[in-house]
Amino acid sequence: MPDDARTPLKAFPQAARPLPPEASLNAEERARILAKAAIFSPPDATLPDGRRDLVGMTHAQLVEEMRGMGEKPFRAKQLWHWIYHQGARDFGVMNSIAKPMQAKLAERFVVGRPEVATEQTSADGTRKWLFRFRDQQQVETVYIPEDDRGALCISTQVGCTLSCSFCHTGTQKLVRNLGVAEIVGQFMAARDSYGEWPTPKGEEGRRLSNIVVMGMGEPLYNYENIRDALVIIMDHEGIGLSRRRITLSTSGVVPVMDLCGQELGVNLAVSLHAVRDDLRDELVPLNRKYPIAELLAACRRYPGASNARRITFEYVMLKGINDSVAEAQELTRLLQGIPAKVNLIPFNPWPGSQYETSTHASIQAFADVLSRAGYSSPVRRPRGRDILAACGQLKTETERARRG
Ligand code: SF4
Repeated sequence: MPDDARTPLKAFPQAARPLPPEASLNAEERARILAKAAIFSPPDATLPDGRRDLVGMTHAQLVEEMRGMGEKPFRAKQLWHWIYHQGARDFGVMNSIAKPMQAKLAERFVVGRPEVATEQTSADGTRKWLFRFRDQQQVETVYIPEDDRGALCISTQVGCTLSCSFCHTGTQKLVRNLGVAEIVGQFMAARDSYGEWPTPKGEEGRRLSNIVVMGMGEPLYNYENIRDALVIIMDHEGIGLSRRRITLSTSGVVPVMDLCGQELGVNLAVSLHAVRDDLRDELVPLNRKYPIAELLAACRRYPGASNARRITFEYVMLKGINDSVAEAQELTRLLQGIPAKVNLIPFNPWPGSQYETSTHASIQAFADVLSRAGYSSPVRRPRGRDILAACGQLKTETERARRG
């Protein structure tokens, strides 16, 4: 477990490396973004009967809860093991805890999961869940299998404020941020679904081996909750996923990228999609606030980026919009000095979208320019098309139904 995983979260900044000097210029803006996130806070994690969910509490919070019950800190350690290593949901199976204590815990707490509203598995093995939370809000989570492993794409907000013009999810306005338990709960419920408890030993042979924070929402607009959730997920006495197996994708919330690098150090993916500000302003409207030069400067100072840990740039291929050879050349110029790889994503059309997918030939020509310049540039295969689970298509069923 990283040392910082057990410290109260307020202690993060002193536990982690200092922010780079350029980042301090953004301090005021960063404070404003973090404060704004609170407006979209999730509802309190208390059930109508007054019991509280232990999932989503940090280790330090769990210790505090146990102290409040007159228990020693080792009780929190036991619970942590049962909840995050064994996947237990019922205090009755926690056989290292005496029966009277199990009963006391059950009076006060639950070990929650989001409710599975639907679960669909695509012909290619992609699995999509629609998870429902206590206030009936819903998000989608997608598992993308590879040969002997796979990535779970988790959501961080119900809806999204950013309205990227190529993105289906962006057509649903932001309802609220997800809480820590709701973010961790997506991973835990996926593990339930694959029967992958207790936590497999080592990193090999896990089906749920990676996490990509690329589902609904902009994670850096819900930073504190995603941070706490990932700290729980990385704790090696529980789920124990290494930070190298976690990739957080942002549209470029520059002031919070610095904080993410400093406190979490997970892999970074950036939704770039254009090489000129005028076009990126249109495709990713957040660009008007944090233009390409500022975004790439934040990538250059992202800690830990190296050839072994490259920053991924996502680039959706839109026919006649951003897919010329000249744009590929400009991209190689822009990325100079950044350990980078570029994921080329053939656009997945959705009902009402204004774009078409680039032709196979133009994607290939684009990829060739990148690879000649030394950049890995895989073309992402569309996955789960039959269940509308492919990238940018996440959208809740309720919203689909509402809009007809
Ligand atoms: S691409 Fe991401 S940030 Fe942009 S609208 Fe879609 S979900 Fe939001």
